[in-house]
Amino acid sequence: MSAIKSIRGTRDLLPPETAQWNFVEAAVRDVFRIYNFHEIRTPIIEDLQLFQRSVGEETDIVSKEMFAWEDRGRAESEKSGQWIALRPENTAGVVRAYIEHKMWERPGLQRLFYIGPQFRRERPQKGRYRQFYQIGAEVIGPPAAGSESPTVDAEVIEMLATLLDRVGISGWTLELNSVGCKDCRPAYNNALREALAGVIDKMCSDCQRRAVTNPLRVLDCKVPADQPIIAKLPVMLDYLDESCRIHFAKLQELLTTLSIDHVVNAQMVRGIDYYVKTAFEFTHGALGAQNAILGGGRYDGLSENLGGPPAPGIGFAIGEDRFVMARQQSGDTLTQPVDVYIAPLGEGMDREAALLARELRRHDVSAELGNEGFRLKKSLETASRIGARYALIVGENEVSSGEFALKNLGTGEQQKVPRRELAKIIQSSR
Ligand code: AMP
Repeated sequence: MSAIKSIRGTRDLLPPETAQWNFVEAAVRDVFRIYNFHEIRTPIIEDLQLFQRSVGEETDIVSKEMFAWEDRGRAESEKSGQWIALRPENTAGVVRAYIEHKMWERPGLQRLFYIGPQFRRERPQKGRYRQFYQIGAEVIGPPAAGSESPTVDAEVIEMLATLLDRVGISGWTLELNSVGCKDCRPAYNNALREALAGVIDKMCSDCQRRAVTNPLRVLDCKVPADQPIIAKLPVMLDYLDESCRIHFAKLQELLTTLSIDHVVNAQMVRGIDYYVKTAFEFTHGALGAQNAILGGGRYDGLSENLGGPPAPGIGFAIGEDRFVMARQQSGDTLTQPVDVYIAPLGEGMDREAALLARELRRHDVSAELGNEGFRLKKSLETASRIGARYALIVGENEVSSGEFALKNLGTGEQQKVPRRELAKIIQSSR
């Protein structure tokens, strides 16, 4: 029978690599704690309309990459009709939850983070998967709580710099742009449409459609032949209104004060419709073609689009897969060897070994239990192969005398150790 394989674009994360993931998640949780962010968990499935109304119908994510299906209900007689989607990102879900649970009634700004899988039907390649993981955060709240202020943007970006530092990723570049707001975007869209009018017949069919429906999305185009044309198009930065200009200048000033280097990339628009004003991306040289390690931006107006009250906000999503990859490039392996392999020798010793293992584990010693069917040589070989630091021999003589042979597998030294001192000795050499 042929074996069943994992779905294209998905992958299994196996030990020891999972240790890297756990390390990253523990480190980011700790950073979120000191910045007073709290975890939110939203469902992996949402109403498809949520993404159409937030991420946007003309984006690649919604128009090409959604996993979505019509929910038929359990019985034939049940009404069908709702379209359900696997979430391609988590900001929309968080804002939906913010509205659904009237989180604006809570004091101050909501400072939320999430860690979880997202789904996009992209062409899989290194660093790009159909199920991938994001670590993200959002700061959202009523304008009266200060949610529109560029100080929030600066704090979020500063937190990211700390986060990268904590997980040991250096050598990143912060690219920054302002994509304007609902007041100044229309004038820019007009300028863009005008500029596109003369060149659009040379561009791809997606661009031709977007030039009419949503011209900003032309800037997301990845078709190589279109790039020289896109490079010559007008940029939003030249069309910012007074308030967007001040917001952007203030943010840059704050980042400079905080010693966070950044470059302005006037063409970066980040592929999602809900962004206004600040848009940013951190890139990393070690990642190759998929070099965006994380991205984010401001989304004032998104809550209203989803039927909620005014709730300006800013957030980001780190690609955890790429985060782990960038860490691995730095060479830190994080393998945690098991402290001791317990080798029962002879009939009836399984029982004694199990008791000893329980005792040691209660003292925080990690232990793997061997098998009394093995001879001493095979036990020691197994202990070495699994990378144990010690082998502990449990034979009849040891049990009756209360002294056990403990072999340090690194140095090869063996000593006799009284039962009650085993845990202390094993731990002291970690
Ligand atoms: P976005 O939600 O598009 O703003 O993406 C934020 C980050 O998620 C990107 O910078 C990537 O690091 C990561 N990311 C997006 N799509 C994928 C994917 N298909 N596979 C792996 N990581 C991804």
